[in-house]
Amino acid sequence: MTKTHDLGHLSVLISGASVAGPALALNLARYGARVTVVEKAPALRAGGFAVDFRGHVHRTVLTAMGIWDDVHAHQTRMGPQSVVAADGTPRVDLPAEMMSGDVEIFRGDLARIMYERTKDSAEYVFGDSVTALTDTPRGVEVAFERGAPRRFDLVVGADGLHSNTRRLVFGDESRYLRFLDHYVAGFSLPNHLGLNRTGLLYSEPGRCVGLNNYDGDPERAGALLVFRSGRLAYDRRDVAAQKRILTERFAGMGWETPAVLEGLAETDDLYFDAIAQIHIDRLTRGRVALLGDAGYGATMGGMGTGVAIVAAHVLAGELALAGGDHRVALPAYESRIRDFAKGCQKISGNAGPFFAPATERRIRNRDRMYRLLGSRMLAGFFKRMTEKAATAVDLGKYPV
Ligand SMILES: Cc1cc2nc3c(=O)[nH]c(=O)nc-3n(C[C@H](O)[C@H](O)[C@H](O)COP(=O)(O)OP(=O)(O)OC[C@H]3O[C@@H](n4cnc5c(N)ncnc54)[C@H](O)[C@@H]3O)c2cc1C
Repeated sequence: MTKTHDLGHLSVLISGASVAGPALALNLARYGARVTVVEKAPALRAGGFAVDFRGHVHRTVLTAMGIWDDVHAHQTRMGPQSVVAADGTPRVDLPAEMMSGDVEIFRGDLARIMYERTKDSAEYVFGDSVTALTDTPRGVEVAFERGAPRRFDLVVGADGLHSNTRRLVFGDESRYLRFLDHYVAGFSLPNHLGLNRTGLLYSEPGRCVGLNNYDGDPERAGALLVFRSGRLAYDRRDVAAQKRILTERFAGMGWETPAVLEGLAETDDLYFDAIAQIHIDRLTRGRVALLGDAGYGATMGGMGTGVAIVAAHVLAGELALAGGDHRVALPAYESRIRDFAKGCQKISGNAGPFFAPATERRIRNRDRMYRLLGSRMLAGFFKRMTEKAATAVDLGKYPV
């Protein structure tokens, strides 16, 4: 590394330690930047759903980050999934390439791999959150919920769809979050069907229940619930209220739904959120940048993990090229990433209607179309569509 690309003088605060945050920490470590990551959760969040990578750009970036082999070693090896009728009869097979990309890994495993590689070079602060950001000519003055105030050269909001950094710098979430008329929930439950690296999906108008097993664990399975709805008012920290909403919405649904609702009552790892996208005009302001879901997120189906990894690579690379000058690097990051992220986000708009078509007729049409295409054509179609979006970015030539 040449002297000009050495970012040893640059202090960077990253808010959020899931995918985008540790990915940026890992990329910045290559250039010697002084990185602090603040995460609201008391420890690195484990578990979560499976996320996937598609196409040569994701592979190039994971390789440059030095984690391609690790990601491969932890991949789920998920098989095909099936849409079933109420009595469990398979109606359509959804090939693994369509649902799980080229390589798929649990979000928690991916976060852990990147955290392990950066925990000695970056400072991780768990159980804290930023409360105020003041951009000054000498840096960003940052106040924390628990820690003492500090100053950083740069602040990056990698704190997800409901980003705290975005709210503090760009304004209320309601200005940027576009609700897509569906909610999604995921949780673990007993593997009562004995699923082994496969998944089943059952739809009724406006509702979908899925059961899956990604890792071959004979005891535990995952449930996926998607339902069509207007906006719901609920407290995002109130898990009992979210369980009540789901129980009401899925009451009377057929197939394995009663067993899934029993699992819901017992589970302690419920994920529940609106299916939504973030649309914001600017990704950067002064010394602050948004990265990952905070800037261009889509709850699911928009390759958000791949976008976050690519964007982290580009942001760190532009900073290295500019010798740490945020006035040069942040606009360059924004112009390289904006259209790419938008293109991936576009694909995600269909996630809700795909899982939970609004009418019986639309469910039949979905199944008929997928059956007609057949597994191989379906896989090819999805591969072409997703890879086109996943590779529509000029990665630039960054110092190695
Ligand atoms: C059901 C489901 C399935 C998905 N499947 C896929 C898939 O197959 N492929 C794919 O590419 N993507 C998938 N995604 C999307 C993917 O999970 C996200 O796009 C990706 O995790 C983006 O990561 P992120 O780090 O930007 O945000 P997040 O993963 O949301 O992380 C944000 C982090 O910030 C922390 N945080 C929040 N507030 C604060 C605060 N105030 N202070 C400090 N820290 C804070 C949070 O605790 C969290 O750790 C899926 C998403 C869902 C919900």
